[in-house]
Amino acid sequence: MDLFEYQGKQYFARFSIPTSPGGVADTVTEAVAQADAAGYPVVVKAQVKVGGRGKAGGIKLAADADEVRRHAGAILGMDIKGHVVHRLWVEHASDIDKEYYASFTLDRPAKKHLGMLSREGGVEIEEVARTNPGAIARLHVDPVRGLDREAARRWVEEAGLDEAARDQAADLLVALYRCYTEGDCDLAEINPLILTTDGRVHALDAKVTLDDNATFRHPEWAEYAATETEDPRERMAKEKGLNYIGLSGTVGIIANGAGLAMSTLDVVNQVGGEAANFLDVGGGANADVMSAALEVINADPSVRSIFVNIFGGITRVDEVAKGVIEALGRVDLRSPIVLRLDGTNAEEGRSLLAPHLSDRLLAEPTMLEAARRAVALAGQRSEERA
Ligand code: GDP
Ligand code: MN
Repeated sequence: MDLFEYQGKQYFARFSIPTSPGGVADTVTEAVAQADAAGYPVVVKAQVKVGGRGKAGGIKLAADADEVRRHAGAILGMDIKGHVVHRLWVEHASDIDKEYYASFTLDRPAKKHLGMLSREGGVEIEEVARTNPGAIARLHVDPVRGLDREAARRWVEEAGLDEAARDQAADLLVALYRCYTEGDCDLAEINPLILTTDGRVHALDAKVTLDDNATFRHPEWAEYAATETEDPRERMAKEKGLNYIGLSGTVGIIANGAGLAMSTLDVVNQVGGEAANFLDVGGGANADVMSAALEVINADPSVRSIFVNIFGGITRVDEVAKGVIEALGRVDLRSPIVLRLDGTNAEEGRSLLAPHLSDRLLAEPTMLEAARRAVALAGQRSEERA
């Protein structure tokens, strides 16, 4: 679960990571009240879960209440990359001397936590990685040993942070590491981490992704879930217990196993199409699961064809075929289905399906042919990509 900046900053506060004083506002009047409380000048910040708010005009400095009124009025309701602003964060403005970058995330191949620290903050870290990779100091942290003050101090020096910032930055990084580990984050990122003109180091922005697997031990996360703006397709899939992720294409995908589902997306892409979703029905692709999967995909207005790609292992293809047939009776589908069924009991499955095949339910022998057919039905470009 991704947090809004203001929630990230509140989360940081639990771990004593310094931020600027401020508060949330849902109206212009509230924004002025928060600004009065924080002390002028202030910065008025759009709360949307997308980066680059500054460039999009969603972050403005205000010297007095009139300016707050003007900026808050302009930013509330603004559309930033498809995210409409309903809430603002108003904080006391900082005088910035230097902008740095700091984050922790998991490096899966290394089986360690990865800290990234740079003296070049305020711009996207991907941009720094491309144009000046030497400016990012990476630190792998052994999860058993953790990060101590001495290691953090060496890291800060290696990254070339200014002398005046080093001690405070080292303390802050130890706190950020605690927030990331004890706070069960997948990502804890500060961009920019600033050194102010009067020599203080603090977080000017907060990007926090919580690890949903740890929800059970964090009752306090309920308030974050309440403000989560979820994709309606994903909410419906979650209610039905499906492993679903909404995407932007037109070919609905159902596959068994996450690996096969990903390969299916690749093959659809290879033949010039784009998947509308990722959906792994897992091991038990029975009628209930198939109906639920088809229902979720059917509810997506961009879908124009559905590609069902099943490889029977422990799952038997004849069971899947029964599931598809039964599901067809339950769900009134808007789009044609292309099936590719292979593996355990494939022959039995195909003969069960044979009497049901039509121009709305087609079968293809291979994954590639099925992908081509599904993409053609979705009316997309059919040239293959290199
Ligand atoms: P993002 O664009 O969504 O990443 O939003 P940030 O919170 O990182 O803000 C973007 C930029 O706005 C920062 O890099 C700063 O340059 C500027 N900014 C934000 N807050 C302040 C502030 O308190 N004072 C000043 N002078 N600039 C700020
Ligand atoms: Mn930022």
